[in-house]
Amino acid sequence: MELPWAEPFKIKMVENIYKSTREEREKWIAEADYNLFNLESRKVFIDLLTDSGTGAMSDKQWSEIMTGDESYAGSASFEKLKNTVQELTGFKYFLPTHQGRAAENVLFSVLVKEGMIIPGNAHFDTTKGHIEFRKAHAVDCTIDEAFDIENMHPFKGNIDLEKLENVYQKHPKEQIPFCLITVTCNTSGGQPVSMENIKAVRELSEKYGIPVYFDAARYAENAWFIKQREESQKDKSVREIIKEMFSYGDGMTMSSKKDGLVNIGGFIALNKEEVFQVASNFTIIYEGFVSYGGMAGRDMAALSQGLQESSEESYLESRVGQVEYLGNKLIEMGIPVQKPIGGHAVFVDAKTFLPNVAKEEYIAQTLAIELYKEAGIRGVEIGTLLADRDPESRENRYPRLELLRLAIPRRTYTNNHMDFIASALKNVYDRRKEITSGYEITWEAPIMRHFTVKLKKV
Ligand SMILES: *Cc1c(COP(=O)(O)O)cnc(C)c1O
Repeated sequence: MELPWAEPFKIKMVENIYKSTREEREKWIAEADYNLFNLESRKVFIDLLTDSGTGAMSDKQWSEIMTGDESYAGSASFEKLKNTVQELTGFKYFLPTHQGRAAENVLFSVLVKEGMIIPGNAHFDTTKGHIEFRKAHAVDCTIDEAFDIENMHPFKGNIDLEKLENVYQKHPKEQIPFCLITVTCNTSGGQPVSMENIKAVRELSEKYGIPVYFDAARYAENAWFIKQREESQKDKSVREIIKEMFSYGDGMTMSSKKDGLVNIGGFIALNKEEVFQVASNFTIIYEGFVSYGGMAGRDMAALSQGLQESSEESYLESRVGQVEYLGNKLIEMGIPVQKPIGGHAVFVDAKTFLPNVAKEEYIAQTLAIELYKEAGIRGVEIGTLLADRDPESRENRYPRLELLRLAIPRRTYTNNHMDFIASALKNVYDRRKEITSGYEITWEAPIMRHFTVKLKKV
């Protein structure tokens, strides 16, 4: 009999979580104006709001916290982290930042100017924010298969080479500072990009003289998918795959809160000395001196260890395996989810789940609230609230998909929690026909409304 995967760790410390009553939850969610971001975490039993900075560190990472070097310059923890990043990615230069968006801010301050075009697969929202803030444009060149949640394409994060070449032909190369590949593609559902695609993007970009950068928050999960799904890559180690992936790029920005296995942090790694020099100046202005960039020495030491652990295959097998475990449970129960299951989250198709709720009443948000009331589970709406209003007409933008994202923190919950989540969602599914109305907005901010919006029952 083939042995199943099992977590390559055991638990040394626990944090108790409170399983509330339905009565308490009904009261709390009303007090929070039906916005899950407003809920105190002690009122949540299983928190699937995000996988960002919510994972568990290992004993070795905690011991790094104790031995971190807090020197302003020449810190040994900085050297350790720099060596790990260079060894893992092959990039020559390294700059720490306080998180991923800070890395974007520093790098884009060097490379992105007004009117520029940055093509790529679906850009993450802070990435797009940093591009648009500079009056430049992000062009989504993701393959069309990504928008069909039933399509079983193994690499739905791939860039459509034809769409990319159109961008390259339409604009002079001076106007395109780089192509950005996000691995895995968070915005399209934690879907991976294949090695073949990365290589092809590199070759095409080289032909037009355009650099390639990675938004690399989940690069280790992406490498794991490549090993599993790409025939020509299956005999390589994950470390070899990571090295090869990055060999097709000129640099990367990283949110260490994902595959860095730490609670805060980020960095930039790159090859071009001129870019590094100018980026160093921006790091000093925005983040801190180049040897800490907004991070404590101890945090850099823990990140160095976290990067080693997150590229271990036994870890990735259990990480991606747990997300898949939850996804498959839901599929078995007949619950509509995005397929194939992504690397860090399961996306529930709320439109199919709740056919009797009008789109004007926020379908995915309604489902998120129902799941919280059912069992104290906090997911997040990826739907109309997030899509916000059109900046000109101020009308609601209704996206094609209304999704409830269940993001799984790393090394934090057990498969019993996954079973619990699946059962809770099944209970809501069984009474979906009775859910016929949703919510309306009583207050919203002019931008990024989903964080602070106030709602009431229709
Ligand atoms: C989280 C994330 C970021 C931003 O990183 P922060 O550490 O949250 O600032 C950028 N890109 C992707 C793909 C991400 O998932």
